[in-house]
Amino acid sequence: MALSGIQIYKLLPQTNCKECGFPTCLAFAMKLAAKQVELSSCPYVSEESKSQLAESSAPPVRLVSLKSDGYEVKAGNEVVLFRHEKTFYNKPGLFVKVTDDLDEGQIKAALVPAEAYQVNYVGIELSVDGFAVESVSGSPEAFAKAVQAVRSVSKRPLILLASDPAVAAAGLSALSGETALLCAADATNWEAMADLAKEHKAALAVRGATLDELADLTEKIKTKGVEDLVLDPQAGGLSGELSQDVLIRRLALKKNFRPLGFPTIRFPHSIPAAAQAVAKYAGFVVLDSFAPELVYPLLVLRQNIYTDPQKPIQVQPGLYEINNPNAESPVLVTTNFSITYFSVANEVESSGLPAWLLVTDAEGMSVLTAWAAGKFDSERIAKAVKSLNIGDKVSKKRIVLPGHVAVLSGELEAELPEWEIRVGPREAVDIPKFYKQALG
Ligand code: SF4
Repeated sequence: MALSGIQIYKLLPQTNCKECGFPTCLAFAMKLAAKQVELSSCPYVSEESKSQLAESSAPPVRLVSLKSDGYEVKAGNEVVLFRHEKTFYNKPGLFVKVTDDLDEGQIKAALVPAEAYQVNYVGIELSVDGFAVESVSGSPEAFAKAVQAVRSVSKRPLILLASDPAVAAAGLSALSGETALLCAADATNWEAMADLAKEHKAALAVRGATLDELADLTEKIKTKGVEDLVLDPQAGGLSGELSQDVLIRRLALKKNFRPLGFPTIRFPHSIPAAAQAVAKYAGFVVLDSFAPELVYPLLVLRQNIYTDPQKPIQVQPGLYEINNPNAESPVLVTTNFSITYFSVANEVESSGLPAWLLVTDAEGMSVLTAWAAGKFDSERIAKAVKSLNIGDKVSKKRIVLPGHVAVLSGELEAELPEWEIRVGPREAVDIPKFYKQALG
């Protein structure tokens, strides 16, 4: 049962020491009741109070982890409906499906490209998270063989799709020392599936036509000692899935409704359905097949949604060499916001023109934002130039400022009197033209 802010307050030290970042214990208690802070932010809670608060501070959506050979896919543990309220924590795992009517060669041919797929997006390596094996043959032997074939290609976590407990048992027995997701228990098989999940330490997906049915099943399965559950709600169409997923998240977060406090799994058959599942609020997304042109936008969408809005994606500040610069090459300046860095670096690199790229520490903000926040100014740029000894690397001392901060040129001249300060274009796409016309 969730505790109110006042009930939580009575269990806190009530010293108003402010170490949690709030002016009073009551303010902290209110935030804790709203699931917007974590209990660990207060270092002075007694052990007795901690245990009483455990239920209240437990994440409303249970964390479920699939593990195998060093890989881990986590889902759940979310505390907000909208990313801007705090952040989303665990990206939905993207899984690619194969069926057990394929022979070993066909399974390998289908999965090898997906296993090898890796793409760099603003300095972050993105890839699929795992694979799903579906029983369509109904044969335990065929299912076990298919699971083994997948394992010969990849060590990533698996989802086993088999509703017949005998088939599911064969698939689980083909694995060892890992936590897979077994999918799915329903009203007809839940006892046998729960026993299997417990025996093999697997997470268990629960399938129900309605939210009432799902809630009823999760409560029953928990009595069998299986806690790592995933919801597989059966709604038809995009709008049906959307309203179910939103209802589940709202009930878990706003009503602390524990029977639906689990991550969900979705099986989209179209790109819009996959994008919707990533955005709202799937924990696991199983794709029918692998295609880079489908997976890449999903990975990028996911990355953007699951980036902490208070922690922009950053690159390491420093001096970057592009196209083997020499002592005559200009020094371009930008900030360490990833997208800004890659926009500039990609334009210069693809132009083939050599340059030094000075990336200043602007706390991950873009040029204009950083300038407005006082994180990108002449003093910081000059300090970076000096601390990195850039003057020793070039004979022709030319610095190019982004056009958006032309206003800094006078101050930078005063800070770096030996340097020629140039104002470049506002947009990265115009850098090559500027380089050829003004610096070449
Ligand atoms: S850190 Fe703990 S004791 Fe201090 S103000 Fe916050 S809640 Fe109260």
